[in-house]
Formats: sequence, C-alpha cells, structure tokens
Amino acid sequence: MAITINRSTHLVSDADRAAKLEAPGFGKYYTDHMIVAEWSQDSGWSTPELKPYGPISLDPAAAVFHYGQEIFEGLKAYRQPDGSISLFRPEANAARFQRSAARLALPELPIETFVESVETLVREDAGWVPSKVGESLYLRPFMFASEVGLGVRPSNRATYMLIATPAAAYFNPEKAVSVWISKEYVRAVQGGTGEAKCGGNYAASLIAQREAAKEGCDQVVWLDAKDRYWVEEMGGMNLYFVKGKGKEATVMTPKLTGTLLPGITRDSILSVAVDLGYKVEETMINIDDWRDGVASGEISEIFACGTAAVVSPVGQAKSALGTWVTGDGNPGAITMQIRQTLLGIQHGEVADTHKWLHQVK
Ligand SMILES: *Cc1c(COP(=O)(O)O)cnc(C)c1O
Repeated sequence: MAITINRSTHLVSDADRAAKLEAPGFGKYYTDHMIVAEWSQDSGWSTPELKPYGPISLDPAAAVFHYGQEIFEGLKAYRQPDGSISLFRPEANAARFQRSAARLALPELPIETFVESVETLVREDAGWVPSKVGESLYLRPFMFASEVGLGVRPSNRATYMLIATPAAAYFNPEKAVSVWISKEYVRAVQGGTGEAKCGGNYAASLIAQREAAKEGCDQVVWLDAKDRYWVEEMGGMNLYFVKGKGKEATVMTPKLTGTLLPGITRDSILSVAVDLGYKVEETMINIDDWRDGVASGEISEIFACGTAAVVSPVGQAKSALGTWVTGDGNPGAITMQIRQTLLGIQHGEVADTHKWLHQVK
C-alpha cells in the first residue's frame, strides 16, 4: 500500500534537533512527522498518510475514552556503522500487533502496511536517529477505537497511528533494578489480555507500580493470578534467571502460559544465549525457587529484558515474605555478555546470523 506524503513546512531546525539529540531522554521529543490511517467496517483501511506531528481531534464520545479499546507496539531503529539505518525484527512487532488487535476486537493492520509505515517514518525523519551505541529512534505504533457512541460493542471505526521519539542509552551499570513482588495485585489472568500489548494492562498495573515505589523498589514483579506463586514478568519487561556460572550456566525464562506478554527481546535472547554456548530453558519458576536459589547461590544472575531498556540487571527483590539479593548487587557477567551481544547485533557490530535486521531503504 502506498503512503501519502504530506511533509511538514515547519521542520525542526538542524541546530535545534542536534541540541535535542545531545540528551534525548525517552519520550521527551517527537520527530517532525507521524503516520495516520483510518479503518471503518465498511471501507477497510484508508491509505496511510505521513503528516506533520501534532495534536489530533477526537469526539469526546469516541469509544477508546470509555471502554479502553486500544493496543500499541514498541520497536527501534538503529544507526549502523556505515550510516544506514536498520529496524530490529519489525515483522515480529507487526505480527504481534495483529494478535493484539484480534484479542481487543480491533481490525488487523496488514503486516506490510505496518512495516512500510515504520520504514516511511524512519526514512522521512532519518535525521532524528541518534548515532551512539545504545541510542536509537523508538517507534510507537498504536491503534484505538474511534467510533463515536457509548454503546458497548466492538468499534466499527479504528485509527492507526505511528509516532517516533529519540531514545538515550538508559542503562546505569552501577545500579541493578530493585523489585517488589506483588501479592495483592495481578497483571493478567488465563483468558484475559495478558498476551496482548494493550493500554488496559498498563492502566491496571499502575497501582502496583505505586506500591512498589512506596516499598522503595524500582519495579513491580507479577506473579500468576491463581496461586500467586509463579513468576511471570517485571513491569513491562520479561524476566530471565541465570542458574550456575560460566560455560555451564543455564539461562532460564518463565514459559509463555498465556498470561505473559511474548516479548521479542525475550525471544531473541533465547537464540543469543544458545549462540553464546549456554543452555536455555523456558520453564515455570516460582518465588521459592527465586528465594532459595539466590540464597544458595545457584541462581547467580537475574535480568529483565524489553525493547526500551534491552537488558537490565535485577538485584534486590522484596515481598511481604522478606527481602533477598542476587549476587553482589552488581550486573552479572552473563547478563552483560548477553546485553552487549544483542546491542551489538542491533547496531551492526556483531554478525546478524539470524537475519533480524531490516534495513530502511
Ligand atoms: C512490550 C512488553 C514486553 C517486552 O516486549 P519486547 O517485544 O521485548 O519489547 C514485556 N512485557 C510487557 C508487559 C510488555 O508490554
């Protein structure tokens, strides 16, 4: 599908953009353009349009405001050593966006339209892709129910949008993330929306995030809803546990039970860890395994992973049952090796043997 191009006549100046890219933060600045496509039950998808970034106008009775029918994605564009720009596994995000849409009774955006919209925005706003390792242009596709009316039913209108924000390399090697293991609140239940990337999952999680902060922790760890025993995720990231040390180590992650978000970083690490010579396991991990494993030293490292932060070491864990610490509180060797390898692939500095990079032409 062709994309209609309506360029901004008020581009951010080169000097202003350069100043912003000096310290991009995350979600602080947005690029010159955005992409919008409309869907209706009767006519299907409109031709997507690239237009100047800016506020949108919606009827106060648009369904999304009342019943939360909304999904999103997150992926990054990375500057390569030769100056070109590559996306990391955009087809995987496109496929997940379709699965999320299906769960939320929203229309599926064709994979090619998703990928082409991302390529088009990156190409047009290429000057916003930072160049230091760890930095990137974060892309945020999203879709919401735009039918006007308060009747509760799947919307017969939807809007797809794509925006982009430069992202700093936010990683503090001095400090592992501390986590609060929530027993009171849960993120997802069997049959619910845990596998879908939807705003509603986040809306329901914020109170636990606040509780974590009150407990002096950076992030919340979610347990399964039924037994409140099986470890699922950390905030908006998947979790990994390293059992054993050195070449004999096993890199483990909670298996996808239907309530976890199937992260693309999680999936990539399953391959990267094998490439690096480790055993990998997708398995059920409970809080006793966690507490006893770190106490005996059998679990030597824990880290969280996701597109935004790539890999973040997890240190202290706190729950109603007590507090326990992994390793010496510093990022573990295997955590850092996996992080460096994945970042290296994304930035074109490590061979892309899995053909994950998608060059923006
Ligand atoms: C997006 C997300 C992740 C990570 O997925 P990636 O594809 O690796 O970015 C993990 N958990 C939740 C709840 C998420 O929303």
